[in-house]
Amino acid sequence: MSAGLSLPIHYLLGADKGGGKPGFSQWAGEPDAFLGELKQHGVSTIEIQGVDPVSFDGSLLTAMRRIARAEMGFTFHSHLPAGSGQASRLCRGPVRSPATIAFLKELGASPIMVVHAFQTAGVKPEALVKSSVQSLRALVVSFRRDSLPIRVAVEINRYHGTDGPGVTYDGLIQIGKQCSDDEVGFCWDMGHTQSSVFQGKLPSAPPSDFVSRVIHVHVHDLSPEGDTHWPLAANCPHLEAGIRRLNVSGYTGIFNLELYPSRWGDAERAKDAILRSVLRLGIICHETTKGLKRRTPGIVKPAGAGDV
Ligand SMILES: [Zn+2]
Repeated sequence: MSAGLSLPIHYLLGADKGGGKPGFSQWAGEPDAFLGELKQHGVSTIEIQGVDPVSFDGSLLTAMRRIARAEMGFTFHSHLPAGSGQASRLCRGPVRSPATIAFLKELGASPIMVVHAFQTAGVKPEALVKSSVQSLRALVVSFRRDSLPIRVAVEINRYHGTDGPGVTYDGLIQIGKQCSDDEVGFCWDMGHTQSSVFQGKLPSAPPSDFVSRVIHVHVHDLSPEGDTHWPLAANCPHLEAGIRRLNVSGYTGIFNLELYPSRWGDAERAKDAILRSVLRLGIICHETTKGLKRRTPGIVKPAGAGDV
């Protein structure tokens, strides 16, 4: 079990300055220094947001090298190859950058890639399951062809007003049934499911068929108004309950903080809120594993962290 944080690929490339919008360089400073600080706080892996699943081009290689230099692991946040065009391009032949593939193999890395099921208003759920499965299969076949041991995690989205397989436990289970266990699992975004629970769209307890197939976890809190991707509050009952369930099911993967400071309206304190969330996550993981025979080597209660 280890702690992670999502960072946009543009930030990791040192290219999120300018453009008029605040980004991580404004909130957290230069990436190398911030990665060092995160590591000191117990973060051991970075989720690279905005990865193109088809090209794996030079920008991904640069981002991975930066993270590897900081002696951290990484995961990818990507999307399913859209429509028949991208999927068939993937199936037709090698399209990924050989240098990026060589780097991953050299590192011996087998990262998780998070994707989302297709979601289109007005399209029947069965059709969305079918197109999502087709695209997932194309992705998995292409990783096999490139000899990349990447496991794909389909993330549960929050309910945004449109029904679809990607926003329910049952929808993801339907998709999962049509893919092999060792190549496709689920990403449990606990902030998303909590939002859907509040909206009356999901039961508070997920079925065991969902929990047993979780291979990755996204963590964030909700604002008092129910806005997602907020820093962790002092008490996070939904996180504690979710992590306890995963402990019981034998989950030993990553708990990745997915935080969007652009929503918080306090740029000056964004970095503090991120680092405080890392410490709180460490405490929750520590507290929820008390009494378990299996220990969690990746996360330890930070010294003096009782007041975070
Ligand atoms: Zn997420």
